[in-house]
Amino acid sequence: MKERVYNFAAGPSTMPIEVLEKARDELVSYGDSGMSVMEMTHRGKDFSEIFSNAKSLFREVLSVPDTHEILFLQGGATLQFASIPMNLMNGGTADYAVTGSFSGKAAREARKYGDVNLACDTGARGFDRIPEQNELKLSDDASYFYYCANNTIYGTEWHYVPETSSALVCDMSSDILSCPVDVSRYGLIYAGAQKNIAPAGLTVVVIDRGLAGKHMDITPDIMRYDVLIKNDSMLNTPPCWCIYMLTLELEWLKKQGGVAAMDQLRRERSGMIYEVLDNSSFYIQKAEANSRSFMNATFRTPSEELDREFVEGAAKEGLVNLKGHRITGGIRASLYNAMPLEGAAALADYMKRFEAHNTCLK
Ligand SMILES: *Cc1c(COP(=O)(O)O)cnc(C)c1O
Repeated sequence: MKERVYNFAAGPSTMPIEVLEKARDELVSYGDSGMSVMEMTHRGKDFSEIFSNAKSLFREVLSVPDTHEILFLQGGATLQFASIPMNLMNGGTADYAVTGSFSGKAAREARKYGDVNLACDTGARGFDRIPEQNELKLSDDASYFYYCANNTIYGTEWHYVPETSSALVCDMSSDILSCPVDVSRYGLIYAGAQKNIAPAGLTVVVIDRGLAGKHMDITPDIMRYDVLIKNDSMLNTPPCWCIYMLTLELEWLKKQGGVAAMDQLRRERSGMIYEVLDNSSFYIQKAEANSRSFMNATFRTPSEELDREFVEGAAKEGLVNLKGHRITGGIRASLYNAMPLEGAAALADYMKRFEAHNTCLK
């Protein structure tokens, strides 16, 4: 078998080796059940325990207060682009901060169900920065304020929680569980799990119970938060295997020291990459320094040709999936919870050697 690589993919993405090994050990027979988690009924005793363990671990790790419900759903982050306005907008107005591709998609989807006020749109500048609080244009009658905490494609991240009078709704797909969050400030937090916490197929929604039940009449039951809460995420079959994998990931995360330790690590990992970039006259960064992401570092070389060489050369050293998103081109290193510090150090070292090699040739 090939040795494991350092996988810098943006999602689905690297998972801790300890988690994968535990899943392998339990794959064909979970506990004394004599069957795989993949083969179990979701209404049975074994899976019920896994499910409630996932919920209580998640509540503990992210310090989710009792006012908020945790839902384990399918449909990806993208389904939430529609679920959120269909449940919370009620045909009225909502404020959307568009700071990247996914928040742009969410705003376009929401327009089908009510009025969208763009609190900001940094698209004209190529999504290179996060606006400051005083730049946000908030409407008086918004039912919620929507933003995306970390822009996975552009490599920018909100380093503050916006102050708004309406409920805060946040897409945390690519930075969930990477740092402590004061959940009580939010009406709704959601994340496609495949970036930072589990395999693809699971979406976690954390919602203030007070926000449920305000849906439009046409909202399908499978998208209604009140119905999903009432059925404890089991209106239909939940993504059982992913929920099981989430429990392993959460146990691993707790052992590492929880979200405070993850916050420290993400700063160290991205710090290694940004240090190389800041001391370079070769690499080009687009994201403004104070908006840069701790999760996805984006940069480029002086030419597309060299970008390609960079990505190919890195892969030969076991540093894989560094190609930037097709929208932006360039290079992107996703530095999620499961990326060891050694992976970031190896990439930083490769970047320095690549620069030295290509600057003495000139
Ligand atoms: C990947 C991503 C999405 C889309 O996720 P899907 O689960 O594929 O729908 C949305 N928002 C952010 C921030 C992402 O990184």
